[in-house]
Amino acid sequence: MRIANLAGRLVLVTAEGTAALDVERASQGRFSADPQAVYDRWPEFTAWAAGTDLAVAAPFAAADLGAPAPAPRQVLAIGLNYAEHAAESGFDVPEEPTVMFTKWQSCLTGPVTEVELPDGGHTDWEVELVAVIGRRAFRIGAADAWDHVAGLTVGQDLSERILQQAGPSPQFSLAKSLPGFGPTGPWLVTPDEFANPDDLELGCSVNGNQMQKGRTRDLIFSVPALLAALSRRLPLLPGDVVFTGTPSGVGLGRTPQVWLAPGDELVSYIAGIGELRQRFVAARPS
Ligand code: ZN
Repeated sequence: MRIANLAGRLVLVTAEGTAALDVERASQGRFSADPQAVYDRWPEFTAWAAGTDLAVAAPFAAADLGAPAPAPRQVLAIGLNYAEHAAESGFDVPEEPTVMFTKWQSCLTGPVTEVELPDGGHTDWEVELVAVIGRRAFRIGAADAWDHVAGLTVGQDLSERILQQAGPSPQFSLAKSLPGFGPTGPWLVTPDEFANPDDLELGCSVNGNQMQKGRTRDLIFSVPALLAALSRRLPLLPGDVVFTGTPSGVGLGRTPQVWLAPGDELVSYIAGIGELRQRFVAARPS
């Protein structure tokens, strides 16, 4: 099953990703149009959706899609979760997922956007698999973790590197939460849609040049291991968004380093899910 946020309304999307069915109307008001509210009723919703006919779904434009989980109570993101990316960033492979930060909710957007580059910054790309929680998870084991995931989507953890590394005790969250710095989408795909949800190809290109290409089987902490480890510390709530880390190939790790510039187009993809498309523009005078 695929769900999306179409102009602020929850929709079911066909397997081809070309047509959508409005959930509130199709369910005759049983489920709200609010895309975030569905995660609190996930088992009930998936049971209803399984019996719903998509034959009357209507075509839509990708530019009208919003974030599949636009208003999570928590956004959790991990740094250094692929060994090659840890190496290019100059760090050892961590033994516990301790490099955790958040992307504040205001930066979350849909899949097709224009993003303003901060003046004097170094803005970088990080394609990531994003998991959305479908059932409260607290102190769960890895074997049970997929049962707590509503679905998977594509994310970009856009990062302003100068701000990210500034100060005596660098913290990542602010530099990764600038307006438009959290594109997600194009839709949420349930884990049962994948032959192996622990081995998905992901990558991104800038102006058609491939910059990142990896597989989620190379995650240091797989989705189940990451959710189990996080849930030992705090409860993961329905609708929470988890950015699972980026593979190697970011601009920071290149020689010479490369940063996004006005006019650049960044396309990010995960096989079996879909793609994000960001166009970058210069900072507007404030
Ligand atoms: Zn990241």
